[in-house]
Formats: sequence, C-alpha cells, structure tokens
Amino acid sequence: TTGVPLVEVIGLTKRYGDTLAVGGVDLTVLAGEVYGFLGPNGAGKTTTLRMLTGLIAPTAGTIKVLGGRPGSPEVLGKTGSMIESPAFYPYLSGLDNLRLLAEYAEVARARVDEVLELVDLKERARDRFSQYSLGMKQRLGVAAALLKDPELVILDEPTNGLDPAGMRDMRRLIRELGSEGRTVLLSSHLLGEVQQICDRVGIIDGGKMVAEHNVEELRGEQELVIRAQPLQA
Ligand code: ATP
Repeated sequence: TTGVPLVEVIGLTKRYGDTLAVGGVDLTVLAGEVYGFLGPNGAGKTTTLRMLTGLIAPTAGTIKVLGGRPGSPEVLGKTGSMIESPAFYPYLSGLDNLRLLAEYAEVARARVDEVLELVDLKERARDRFSQYSLGMKQRLGVAAALLKDPELVILDEPTNGLDPAGMRDMRRLIRELGSEGRTVLLSSHLLGEVQQICDRVGIIDGGKMVAEHNVEELRGEQELVIRAQPLQA
C-alpha cells in the first residue's frame, strides 16, 4: 500500500427509527490494500457500504471517498461497486449485458473484453445470463464494477451463497485485483475468507467497530468472532 487513505469515515451512524443500524463507525482504507469488513448478519456491513457508495445518507458522521463526497459524479467515476445482487437482462448474454453498461458509462468496447477476461468469463461471454451459475453472475457483477477501471472497488459479501467452486473463483479474483494494486473494500461474515484474501480486517458487530487488525494478527480474534456467530470458510 502507499499509505494514502482512499476511504476516511468518522463517526458514521445510521438510524432507522429505534434501530441503530450503524453506531459511530470509524474506518480508513488505504490505497492498494484489500480491506475486509467482517461481521455476522445484521452487524451493519451493508448499511455502511451503502453509505460509502452514496446509496443512502448517514444520520451522522463524515465520509470522504477518494477525497470527495460519496455519490458525487467525480467519486462515482472512480469507484466500482457491487452492493446488491447485480441486475442484468436474463435473456441477453453476459457480453451484451456488459456492452450495454459500457455504452451507458461511455466506456470503450475493448474494455468489455478486458474485464470479461479478468473475471474469467471470456469462454462463457456469449451464453445467456440466465444460464450462468450464481458464481458466474456474481463475477459478471464484479466485471461491471470494473468497467470504468476504478481505483476503488467496493463489494458487499461477494461470496455469499456461492458453492465452494464459486467461492474459490471469486476469492482468486479478489486476490488478483489486490495484486494488480487496486484498492478493494469487501464485506464478509467468514473469518477464514478474510484471512485468505485481505491485508487488513475491521470487525463490526452490533453496528460498532469492535477491532481492527492486520490479517496476521487476526488469529487471536477467532474467539471473538465465533462468539458473535459460528463461522466457517
Ligand atoms: P447482512 O449480512 O444480513 O446483510 P449486515 O451486517 O449487512 O448484515 P445490515 O443489513 O447493515 O447488516 O443491517 C444492520 C441492522 O440494521 C439490522 O438490524 C437491520 O435489520 C437494520 N436495517 C438495515 N436496513 C434497514 C432498513 N432499511 N430499515 C430498517 N432497519 C434496517
């Protein structure tokens, strides 16, 4: 990493009526690192990532992403994200789905081939989206997030629901993004997963950051996380 903060979050808070979904999260993601946001279901991961991408507004706190405001055109142009399961046209091929998005984003067509290669979908690019496995659908979502060649990639539980092969492929892809020098912020509820693919990990529980570690230091936290929810890779 270069040590330059790409994401700087202070006191981030989101309330829904009486529910405190996120309660004062501080978070810094440095350029070039793969940062894992680890926590059990309902911990506040998705809500935090939705605020970081400008999909929802915080109740309180400050967020700086790539020096700007989440959701602003400058920041959106340099960030790629997959927060919800990506929506694609089922009867179009993966290739045509990405071409449509590329056209909309004014991205060169050649980039579509590059991202398909990156996510290992080149061979299946002409198959209908509806025929893809869940893992392939998720990788197409990552491909879409990469179209603009973003500095920062934000992925909400990218391996959630995948079978072992799908998980393995997605993890390999994320490691590749990291070794290319891209900055990745991802969420997960699997300790083994963030140990495999992340440089640094923040643990969130009940809407609060309860710990932050370099991945080598994480072993001691096993118990803490397991208490929150049984975890397995
Ligand atoms: P998951 O892995 O299940 O997505 P998470 O860590 O992403 O979990 P969030 O989805 O951020 O957790 O939810 C945090 C808390 O906020 C939960 O208690 C959830 O029920 C609540 N919450 C989230 N979104 C809303 C909403 N739109 N309205 C009301 N409560 C919400």
